[in-house]
Amino acid sequence: MKSHAKAVVIGGGVVGCSVLYHLAKAGWTDIMLIERSELTSGSSWHAAGGFHTLNGDPNVAKLQAYTVQLYKEIEEISGQSCSLHLTGGVMMADTPERMDFLRLAHAKGRYLGMDTELITPSEAKAMFPLMDETNFVGAMWDPVEGHLDPSGTTHAYAKAARKLGAEIVLRNRVVELTQEVDGTWNVVTEQGTVKAEHVVNCGGLWAREIGRMVGVELPVLAMEHMYLLTEPMPEVEEFNKSTGREMIGVLDFKGEIYTRQERNGILLGTYEKACKPWSPVNTPWDFGHELLQPDIDRIAPSLEIGFKHFPGIEKAGIKQIINGPFTFALDGNPLVGPVQGLTNFWCACAVMAGFSQGGGVGLALSNWMVHGDPGFDVWGMDVARFGEWATLRYTNAKVRENYSRRFSIRFPNEELPAARPAQTTPLYDTMLANNAVMGDSWGLETPLWFAPKGSEPKDIVSFHRSNDFGPIGEEVRATRERVGVTEIANFAKYEVSGPGAEDFLNRLMTNRMPKSGRIVLTPMLNEFGRLIGDFTIAKAGPRGGEDRFMIWGSSAAQKYHMRWFEKHLPKDGSVRIHRFDQTLVGLSIAGPKSRDLLQKLVDVDISTKAFRFMDFREMAVGGAPCMVNRITYTGDLGYEIWMAPAYQRLVYNAIKEAGEEFGLVDFGMRALLSMRLEKNFPTWFRELRPIYGPFEGSMDRFIKLEKNDFIGREAAAKEQAEGPKLRRVSFIVDAADADVMGDEPIWAKVGGKDYGTVEKPHGYGAPRFDAGGNEVRGSNAAEGASAVRGIVDGDWRVVGWVTSGGYAHYVEKSMAQGYVPAALAENESAGLFEVEILGHRRLARINVEPPFDPSGEKMRT
Ligand SMILES: Cc1cc2nc3c(=O)[nH]c(=O)nc-3n(C[C@H](O)[C@H](O)[C@H](O)COP(=O)(O)OP(=O)(O)OC[C@H]3O[C@@H](n4cnc5c(N)ncnc54)[C@H](O)[C@@H]3O)c2cc1C
Repeated sequence: MKSHAKAVVIGGGVVGCSVLYHLAKAGWTDIMLIERSELTSGSSWHAAGGFHTLNGDPNVAKLQAYTVQLYKEIEEISGQSCSLHLTGGVMMADTPERMDFLRLAHAKGRYLGMDTELITPSEAKAMFPLMDETNFVGAMWDPVEGHLDPSGTTHAYAKAARKLGAEIVLRNRVVELTQEVDGTWNVVTEQGTVKAEHVVNCGGLWAREIGRMVGVELPVLAMEHMYLLTEPMPEVEEFNKSTGREMIGVLDFKGEIYTRQERNGILLGTYEKACKPWSPVNTPWDFGHELLQPDIDRIAPSLEIGFKHFPGIEKAGIKQIINGPFTFALDGNPLVGPVQGLTNFWCACAVMAGFSQGGGVGLALSNWMVHGDPGFDVWGMDVARFGEWATLRYTNAKVRENYSRRFSIRFPNEELPAARPAQTTPLYDTMLANNAVMGDSWGLETPLWFAPKGSEPKDIVSFHRSNDFGPIGEEVRATRERVGVTEIANFAKYEVSGPGAEDFLNRLMTNRMPKSGRIVLTPMLNEFGRLIGDFTIAKAGPRGGEDRFMIWGSSAAQKYHMRWFEKHLPKDGSVRIHRFDQTLVGLSIAGPKSRDLLQKLVDVDISTKAFRFMDFREMAVGGAPCMVNRITYTGDLGYEIWMAPAYQRLVYNAIKEAGEEFGLVDFGMRALLSMRLEKNFPTWFRELRPIYGPFEGSMDRFIKLEKNDFIGREAAAKEQAEGPKLRRVSFIVDAADADVMGDEPIWAKVGGKDYGTVEKPHGYGAPRFDAGGNEVRGSNAAEGASAVRGIVDGDWRVVGWVTSGGYAHYVEKSMAQGYVPAALAENESAGLFEVEILGHRRLARINVEPPFDPSGEKMRT
């Protein structure tokens, strides 16, 4: 074993081997993988080997599609077969709601280049005759699904990596990790110490223990998982013989089960409600190639549904039940990327679908390590997406919740209950007493809307407008016409101070920094000129002669942004950065009467001239020391008031008392988001994400190329010079009783013209057959084999996607924001666009000026 390496990958499961392969492929050959035992000694060896491309996050879905396409490549390089069976598969819906979900997934697939198709239960039965199709209302066919040999695939990655120069050391456990002052890692193993520049945690079942070696508690937990294998079945053999094909994979939402052909029998796996964590606190190091005791009682309720839906399977004898552990993060997606607070310590763990995701994870991580950027939008699997609140017990509750509803629909207005309430502000009980429906905002209980007195404060979950529609409308109208108050503790807040603070921020941000007492809005870019942040920054008065800047941003991105800030902090100590999290909380008041209200609570003049739009001031509000911004996300006259938690009740009570004469109302986050829609304001993580450039995001007025050099300036200048490819636009949609939720395709009437933004299909997938064994072509098959199925319809073509939207209550319009090719954004849009909502294409019109207060006069008065 060598004693130095550029990177050491810990763990020889499918993920570690994929990371090793991708690093080697990217040109890092001085790398090694260290495995405790043999390759596949964690969860990889007993996986059911299924793969598919669908994922709730379209960006993760794209990486899954990449994984599936990669298998041919690694087979060729390694000479090792993955035993790929590309059968295709169906997802079965048993209720209209689940069918709506499939319609959404199918629509999303249009711009992802996924060749999915909505089919009838009988069509599904033709490909999987063991089902009773009368249990279902519809299905979705995905040709890029199948199964493979987990061990062969892991070895194919490993052999391919070795061929490219990587070293693999087996039967050698990493026992300790320490770091030198210069950043070099000492990877202490049973066979000696390796000095490495980078360490990658691909420890799978032991990823949590490897995290603990460097003082990090990763939010990952292993769950027991069972699948059964039947004895050979004559029906299967007969189907294979008569059609010359294998049976397809089937996913059954209702039963939370998946099933497919395995040899000449059937494999059926369950995500049972009575799920069970494995080794919830410590994973034993001596756990090896062994299986857990099956517990048929636990999966009996799922099997009961399974046998009802697939009666053909019930008759078969069960040959074996496999029970093995594998790991999950809170939301079921992987934990990938550099860990905030550490240097050159990387994660690629909690990969619950290693054979769907392993390739994409390897590619993203290797890009990140070699080129400084994952190259895709990997927020959905970024290890920075969970905060400190994701403790061992929190993780346990959330992972169990996620597992037991693995295939359940998550409605757009559905808040999941496990591990809540976790963090609360001092106003929590008051908000509950006010009949607030609370939501989870990065681990913090936050009021979403207020149910009418006497009614139960509860969402009726739906894809359509629901019981919050009326009350949110009331909150919006009262705020726009009088005044409203809301909690904004869930924003991210930072203070940057020190002699180098202004230079530091000028280097990171695209806008000029504000003068003392003023506020600016500014995006932040990476070196590639992509949007990685969007902030409100105020310059506070100097303290001890030092500059101080207050920064507000997206709550969920706190660790993501801190990682970036820390990476770029000057080494000379001239800049300090402090993240407040919940040690600073806030309230916002907005509406035409908000100034009169605030004036009653402060002892300074806050008239239009004395306290202008975009001013920042430290002042006592209701007797409590506060910071006040004259700006709000409602786009109305209004204020954000920030205080230590100990003062929040005092300030809130003072606002409520003073507000009585103005008809003050409480409003929640959903009303706030509705109001931002009618101002065309974007949100971070929906409209603004690292896949877009600043001009694509229509952030032009915040990009000051002529100021000092800043990170991403060169790329932004290029984007401006060449013209952005896409453009963020706002639409008014002729919706019915459902508004957009995000990720819907945008159609445009473009004639034969190709604006070229829509992804092409994967290029290969399993063909679909009818009961007579004839190949079934998609709805656009008439356009020939090269046609992009599902994204062309006569003169209409899918040209982009919705990022977010909803109902804008004050202007009484259904609105959407999204990206379309820049050339189309300029067009006269009447009759040109349609947005697909739950399978129905609705007319949409680009809306250049915000429908509420287009001149911005109200917020400036
Ligand atoms: C019953 C079952 C069915 C499944 N079915 C599917 C399926 O159909 N499709 C699918 O995609 N996924 C499936 N999975 C999940 C799949 O197995 C995992 O996603 C995958 O194995 C994760 O791989 P990994 O490399 O992250 O982790 P692991 O396979 O756990 O590998 C981690 C490796 O790290 C090594 N290691 C840990 N600590 C150290 C250390 N300190 N020093 C050196 N080495 C160390 C371990 O020995 C191990 O070999 C299934 C899992 C189970 C249990």
